[in-house]
Amino acid sequence: MGEPMVLGIDLGGTHMRVAVVDSNGEILRLGKIHSNIHLGARQACLRLISECRMLMDEARSLGGSVFGIGMGVAGKIDRHRGEVVFSPNLPAMNGYLLGIELEKSLGLPVVMENDANAFGIGENWVGSGRGIANWVGVTLGTGVGGCLVFGGELWRGDDLGFVGEIGHMIVDPQGPSCACGLQGCLEAHSSAGSLMRAVEKAATDGLLSRGPLHDRWVKGALTAEGVYLSAKEGDLGARRLFHRMGWALGIALAGLFTVLGIRHAVIGGGVSAAWDEFIGPLRSSLAEHSSFLASEEMMVLRGALGDNAALLGAAKLAWKSLCEKEATSEIL
Ligand SMILES: [Zn+2]
Repeated sequence: MGEPMVLGIDLGGTHMRVAVVDSNGEILRLGKIHSNIHLGARQACLRLISECRMLMDEARSLGGSVFGIGMGVAGKIDRHRGEVVFSPNLPAMNGYLLGIELEKSLGLPVVMENDANAFGIGENWVGSGRGIANWVGVTLGTGVGGCLVFGGELWRGDDLGFVGEIGHMIVDPQGPSCACGLQGCLEAHSSAGSLMRAVEKAATDGLLSRGPLHDRWVKGALTAEGVYLSAKEGDLGARRLFHRMGWALGIALAGLFTVLGIRHAVIGGGVSAAWDEFIGPLRSSLAEHSSFLASEEMMVLRGALGDNAALLGAAKLAWKSLCEKEATSEIL
């Protein structure tokens, strides 16, 4: 049979990433392909299945054997039905029974989880959250995701299909509109999408000053990374956007720390690469908006696993599910 291994999958709007992971959280092989979600759910699923088959072959070549699959997916997930209920980044997947399709095709058990929760499980297992009992996780990407870890376990609330949606905490009721339909959410201040929308609005209002950010916008190739590079090049408008990002994150974390009686946060996701631009304003805002904790008591950590946090968390879920099945069959 070979050494037991699992596959961890991170299914995002742009890429699908699949890894062979051992029981210690070590990534042994990693594959990455474009999601090409515009081709439809069935096509995306077939591509994912073929990538999984390739990684299962890789596991065999390492003397192992894949026993289960864990998958983190951006959006609202029905874990029990293996369904992508609603995913803004993967709209073609809405209502698709992805978990069941994978199980049928690959003949292996599949567990699914929201990608921000998977990030939390990954960082909790082998990342920055390891050894910290209670913490809040924030993922800064196209949107803002979040998760809550209490007593070393992911908090699932009432299992309603959403939990820890920190991105939709309102930090300024007069603030910019959010994709969720509300106004002034954290996501409307602190996501890659919010950076782009703010630049677009400044340009439309004639308020985008000449400088690196303006130059990139004129070329029509502006990305969140471009906004960061502009800030590094001293562009004041770009720096103000990261200041606003940190300010909003500080308000959200201060509120959560106060309500929950905790003092640790882990921040990951692609936009956390701009750490040096927003962490100063974040810490000032956190100190300013906290009622019960001094600034030195509050720990805001950067995620340690980078792009691999969600797929490692998904792999951990697969391990957990396999262990539970084994325990049950022993009892039976
Ligand atoms: Zn919102």
